[in-house]
Amino acid sequence: MRRVTDYTPYLTWIDSQQPRMTSLVTRWANINSGTYHLAGLHHLSQAIQLEFASLHAESIEHLQLSPQKRIDSQGKAVEAPLGDGLRFRKRTDAARQIFLCIHMDTVYPQDSLFQQTTLIEPNKLRGPGVSDAKGGIVIMLMALECLERFVTTAGANVGWEVLLNPDEEIGSPGSSRYLLESAKRNHLGLLFEPALPDGSLVSERKGSGNFTIVVRGRSAHAGRNPQDGRSAIVALSQIVLALHDLSRQFPGLTINVGQVEGGGALNMVPDLAIGRFNVRLPAAGVSQATVHEHLERLIAGFNRDEIRVELHGGITSPPKVVDERMRALMEQISQCGNDLGLKLSFRPTGGTCDGNRLAAAGLPCIDSLGPRGDRIYSPEEFVYLDSLSERAKLTALFMMKLATGEVNF
Ligand SMILES: [Zn+2]
Repeated sequence: MRRVTDYTPYLTWIDSQQPRMTSLVTRWANINSGTYHLAGLHHLSQAIQLEFASLHAESIEHLQLSPQKRIDSQGKAVEAPLGDGLRFRKRTDAARQIFLCIHMDTVYPQDSLFQQTTLIEPNKLRGPGVSDAKGGIVIMLMALECLERFVTTAGANVGWEVLLNPDEEIGSPGSSRYLLESAKRNHLGLLFEPALPDGSLVSERKGSGNFTIVVRGRSAHAGRNPQDGRSAIVALSQIVLALHDLSRQFPGLTINVGQVEGGGALNMVPDLAIGRFNVRLPAAGVSQATVHEHLERLIAGFNRDEIRVELHGGITSPPKVVDERMRALMEQISQCGNDLGLKLSFRPTGGTCDGNRLAAAGLPCIDSLGPRGDRIYSPEEFVYLDSLSERAKLTALFMMKLATGEVNF
């Protein structure tokens, strides 16, 4: 068996790349890549391709995504175009195949006030997407460069596939078919979502889905003939309360109505109201089918007295469950952490990511190999810069051990 010192020169090389990693995360975070900002995503994709050229991938593909179907503020079904994904593959005929994945999009739209990075402390960089997930793209690149240096000198029979998708922040509606393809032909998955704020990695994740309710009533003049009106806003308000009651019936189930719209002139009984909500469900205790059934029954109960209610959407990310293969993978990653002097722990979270979908498709995966940082989804998002090399070494060591057969999967 090899000793960890055999890998040391390669790991030390990653340390030497710290300034480059800082520069890359800064440049990439300064490019706005909100999910619907297609020009920004294209710009980022080009910047990434320039850097990933160092890996000498055997194939580079630009993946076209089907548009996202959604309900607009008039209650009509519309399609929103999505950016292109990027896929790189190398040594596809090798015995072991690793899938590496992370998203290029962020939650900060083109007109967000949060556009640029700021070094707030020597080791703390604030900026849009520095943790989620541009730091993760940098870590993935460094770990792969390290693996390629190792393979060149040590020889190995390991291949890899990289997928960078542009729509993860809205639940990967267009890239999910590519994720499923990759889940089928690889042996394990490494995803670079940020670690939890205390540096822990993620074990289980809740499932998640987004829904839209369209309520149609009948308009009337609020002063002249209010008795003829059927207020869609009143009906929607009752539905919102009923949804919150429903979530209390099942431990671990949460329903968050995050957006409501509708109505118009104040002297008019509103005939249209739209509510959008997110559902999170635990790994055990309540099934997706039960949640769907309850939602449909609840909505159907409001279809009365000339009020018409439609429910759109569904659970798109099943809960991520830790099975035996996943546990074995977690133990191997922890061992790599020990070798590097990191005491890694794993904790469950309510957050979802593409790891949910991949695990449900049968691919064991660790999905929080990205940097340490905090305050994601806020204008205070930051990353600890030294965690870029720390976590790149973790993934690199694990892949080098796979390459030598020291760990088997
Ligand atoms: Zn993310």
